[in-house]
Amino acid sequence: MYVMKNSKQVELSDRVRFRCTRCAACCRHVENTVVIEVKDAFYLAKLLGMSVIDFYTAYANMLTLEDTGFPLFFLKTVGKDNSCVFLNGKRCSVHNAKPRTCKMYPFWVAPDDDGKTLSYNFSTERKHHPKGSLVRVKDWMREYLSNEDKEFILEDARSVMKITRPFRILYDNLKNPYDVQKRVLMYRHLFYDTNEPFMEQFCRNNRVLEDELERIINKFTSI
Ligand code: SF4
Repeated sequence: MYVMKNSKQVELSDRVRFRCTRCAACCRHVENTVVIEVKDAFYLAKLLGMSVIDFYTAYANMLTLEDTGFPLFFLKTVGKDNSCVFLNGKRCSVHNAKPRTCKMYPFWVAPDDDGKTLSYNFSTERKHHPKGSLVRVKDWMREYLSNEDKEFILEDARSVMKITRPFRILYDNLKNPYDVQKRVLMYRHLFYDTNEPFMEQFCRNNRVLEDELERIINKFTSI
């Protein structure tokens, strides 16, 4: 299970102290730290009236995970203090479609090792956060973690588990590893119509990618 630094695991029944001073410090000095998940990019692109490809080009940096070779996206930053590109004064200019990581902060959620259940966590990185009134974790999740979010996290974990091995083998052994990375980019991140429902497209794209990688690896291992 993934564990973020300066975090503690919490249960839905727990109550934790939290205080927000609306200082917007969480949105500054965030170079390559605000993750854009596939679902975030879809809804941000929809809010901004642009295609998903144009959204990534204009607002995201792509990094490649060293251990898996998977592409990951982060919101761009601007200015000397590396503020999030969407910070306007002390306000978020994309509040209605802000990434899940921002919506849930200082809580965060990750799939357990089995990929079928979720674990709940509380970030203690800001000194003033754990000093306010008591917040029930369950209430926070009810407000900031939608059913579609949960569905997305678990489907994402399922698909990543399924493609990690074939992706890694192909990435390490193909003459041109970017060929396989390109497929992940296309199916997982780019092939979306923001006028259609998100989850159906996400599940469909995952299946196509899984089949495609399996087909390539079968061809590759039979040579
Ligand atoms: S998207 Fe909004 S909440 Fe998230 S870091 Fe940027 S300005 Fe802050």
